[in-house]
Amino acid sequence: MKKILVANRAEIALRVMRTARKMGITTVAVFSAADRNAPHVRFADEAVCLGPPPSNQSYLLGDKIIQAAKKNGADAIHPGYGFLSENAAFAEVVEQAGLIFIGPKSRSIEIMGNKLAAKAAVKKFGIPMVPGTDEPIADLAKAKTIAKEIGFPILIKAAAGGGGKGMRIVEKEEDLNEQMERAISEAETAFGDGSVFLEKYISSPKHIEIQVLADSHGNILHLFERECSVQRRHQKVIEEAPSAILTPEIRAAMGADAIKVAAACDYEGAGTVEFLVDEKLNYYFLEMNTRLQVEHPVTEMITGIDLVEQQIAIARGESLPFRQKDLTVNGHAVELRVYAEDPFNDFLPNAGRLKRYRPPSGKGIRLDDGYEEGMDIPIFYDPMISKLVTHGNSREDATQKMLRAIENYEIEGVATTLPFGKFVFEHTAFFSGKFDTHFVQNHFTNEAIEKEQKEESAVAAALALKLFLKEKRRLKVPEVGGSNWPTRQE
Ligand code: ADP
Repeated sequence: MKKILVANRAEIALRVMRTARKMGITTVAVFSAADRNAPHVRFADEAVCLGPPPSNQSYLLGDKIIQAAKKNGADAIHPGYGFLSENAAFAEVVEQAGLIFIGPKSRSIEIMGNKLAAKAAVKKFGIPMVPGTDEPIADLAKAKTIAKEIGFPILIKAAAGGGGKGMRIVEKEEDLNEQMERAISEAETAFGDGSVFLEKYISSPKHIEIQVLADSHGNILHLFERECSVQRRHQKVIEEAPSAILTPEIRAAMGADAIKVAAACDYEGAGTVEFLVDEKLNYYFLEMNTRLQVEHPVTEMITGIDLVEQQIAIARGESLPFRQKDLTVNGHAVELRVYAEDPFNDFLPNAGRLKRYRPPSGKGIRLDDGYEEGMDIPIFYDPMISKLVTHGNSREDATQKMLRAIENYEIEGVATTLPFGKFVFEHTAFFSGKFDTHFVQNHFTNEAIEKEQKEESAVAAALALKLFLKEKRRLKVPEVGGSNWPTRQE
C-alpha cells in the first residue's frame, strides 16, 4: 500500500494522513468547495475537488471518490468516521474496483449496521442484551402486549438508526400508539427503513464501549474501555479511558464479550462494541460501530497504540504485532469534543468564523483539529472544531491538565462547548465517577447555566480589562491627571 485516499474532511482526515505519512504512505485528499483551503487539503500530497458543499454533492459521492482514487493511483481508501464509513455498499464497490477498503468487509458492516441484525448475530454467544423485541414490530396491539411484558418506560428504536437519532422514550401505556406511529414515520423519512423495535429503557445507564482490533488471521484483541456517558441528544461530548467505575473482573468480562461480538460478524480492523451499564454494573450489548470512533484518541493515549496504523497494517494483511497479555492501561485520558455549539442555548450549532483560534499545547495535551484562525465552520457538516485530549498518571491528573488546557484554549467568533467542558470537569458528580447518560439533564440545569454564565461574563470582563490595560500601556495613553489635559474641577 503506497498511496491512500482519505474520504473525509477536517480533523479525522488530517489525523489519518499523519499516520499514513509516518508509515511512508502518500495521501490523496478529497474536498468540497467549502473546504478548498482546509488544512487537510494542504497537508495531503494530492487533492481532488468533489463538488459543491452539501455532503450529498461531495463527501457522499462514492463513485466519484473511487474514480478519484483510481485516477490518482491510490491503492486504498480510508473512510474515517461518518460519511461513507459504515456504508456496506460503498465498501463493496471499493473492493470491486480493485482497491482496498481500510475497514471491515462489507458483510460485517451490513450485519452491524442494522441494530436487529446485530442482535440476531450475537444472540447465540450468550452476550447480555437489553430486554426487548428481536424483530421489527409494526402491529400496535402486539407492541402494547410486549411493552407491558418488558415494563415501562420503554424505548422505541429504529433498526437502521444511528447518530443518536431514531429513538423515542415511552413512559406510559397510553402514549405507546402515538409514539409508535411517529417513530415509524420518522424512521422511514430519516433512514429509508421504517422498521422499529422495542427495548427496555434503562433508567440510569452508563455508556461504556470496548475498542477491538481484529486481523485477517483470526486474532481478535480488546484495548479496554472508554466511558462516554456525558452526552447531549444521545450523542457523546466527553469521553475517558479507562472508566472510573469498572472493576478488573467486569472489564475482563466485557472485553471477552466484545471479542465474541467481533467474531460473530467475522470482523476485521478496528471496531467498537458499545454497552449500557446499569447501577448494579450489569452490562448489556447495545451495538457495534464498524469504523474508527471519534473518541479513539483516549484509547491511544492509555495504550500507546496508534489505531490508524493498526487499521492500515490489518488492511495490508499483516498479523497484529501484540497479544492480549502485552496490552496494559497506562494512566488515564480524558477527551472533550469542542463543538461550535452554544451550551447555554440548548447546544444549538453555532457556525461562523473563527476570528481568533489559539489552541493550547504542552505535556500531556493532544489536540486533533482541522481548522485554523480565520476559517469558517461550515453549516453543511458536523460542527466539531476539535478534540481536546489530555493524559495523566491518574484520573485527577488528566482532569487537572484538561481544565488548564480549556483555560488556555482561545476561540472567538463562535460559541463552543469549552465552557461546558469546564463545568463537567469541575463537577463533583464527574469527580466521583457516579454519573450517567443524564448528566446534562441532572446537572446542567437552568440555575447551573445562569451561574456559569455569570462567571463567564465576569471572566470576560476581567480579560477585557486586562487587554485594555495592556493596550493602554502600549499606546501610551496619558494618565488622567498625569497629563496636560485639563481635568474637571469638582
Ligand atoms: P446510535 O446508533 O443512534 O448512536 P445507540 O443504540 O448507540 O444509538 O444509543 C445511543 C445512546 O442512546 C446511548 O449511549 C444511550 O445514552 C441511549 N440509549 C440507547 N439505548 C438505550 C436504552 N435501552 N436505555 C437507555 N438509554 C439508551
